[in-house]
Amino acid sequence: MTRSHTFRSALIGAALATSLGGVSFLSAQTVAGPATGQPRTADPAVRGIPLSEFPRFVKLADNVYGYEEIRQPGFTTVSLVVVGRDGVLIADGQGSPAATQTMLDRIKTITPLPIKWYIVGSDHGDHTAGNNVLPAGITYVVQRNSLAQLKRDSTAAATAGRAAVIVPPRAMTGDEETIDVGTTRVVVKFLGRAHTGGDLMVHLPREQILFMSEAYLNRVFPAMRSAYPSEWVEVTNKALALPNVRHFIPGHGFIETPAVSREELVRFRDAIIQVNAEAKRLKGLGLSVEDANKQANWGELSGWFLAGQQAPVAIRKVWEELDGKLPK
Ligand SMILES: [Zn+2]
Repeated sequence: MTRSHTFRSALIGAALATSLGGVSFLSAQTVAGPATGQPRTADPAVRGIPLSEFPRFVKLADNVYGYEEIRQPGFTTVSLVVVGRDGVLIADGQGSPAATQTMLDRIKTITPLPIKWYIVGSDHGDHTAGNNVLPAGITYVVQRNSLAQLKRDSTAAATAGRAAVIVPPRAMTGDEETIDVGTTRVVVKFLGRAHTGGDLMVHLPREQILFMSEAYLNRVFPAMRSAYPSEWVEVTNKALALPNVRHFIPGHGFIETPAVSREELVRFRDAIIQVNAEAKRLKGLGLSVEDANKQANWGELSGWFLAGQQAPVAIRKVWEELDGKLPK
């Protein structure tokens, strides 16, 4: 990270600590919908949104909300909340028991109904590490690659004496599962391996909403630690081609208006293509990852969140794919 990024992160961290330590149980902030005319960035400061506004709900349709909460180093992690007739469906949690508990408390300001369903959009800890505060007995939907990863994480956590990882009892059997929550129809889709390998999306056909979890990082550098770099491009293209989608919701970065959400998903797809191409070019120079990282030219992407941290990770992963070393 650049020095200015680090400095800004420290400021944001301090502001976040203040807001969490202060009056954090006022009724939830709910904005009527995504804001129009915003700068294209994941940075709340650049968008002019004070950190005291988070966490907040962004109303997407009747009974459907995006939940934006700030994570380090200062951009949002987004969860989806669908209020059904007898219970609530969540897609993705937050990154710690405290953050997920705050989300559950905020959901109570919208509805008294209990949580009944949880979709594992991303198996990564910044979305699942708070899942031990979810009620027992809820129905999990998880893709088999993510279930396998959560089992590995659970074993590793037990060995290291860390907090237990919640492992759903079973994986979905196909690539699609429909849940009638009483107020609307929810279709969980696996469009292929992208950011985690078990990436699930949540489609609400009537509302024309697609929650993409970490397959869509809005103005955050493509994070590839566990990614499938070229398949990720195909997955975003499949999402863009789906019928009955107007509004694409990211797993990180801001929820945009429907028209901007499509433009930004195209921009993000192009960013993944660019990262693939640049890493491939660097491989051709026969450099070490370290030297390749120094010589890399990411253009505008170098100003996106996590660029400094994620660029060498992406180079390594793209090279692994080019060498045929990714899991089949
Ligand atoms: Zn994440």
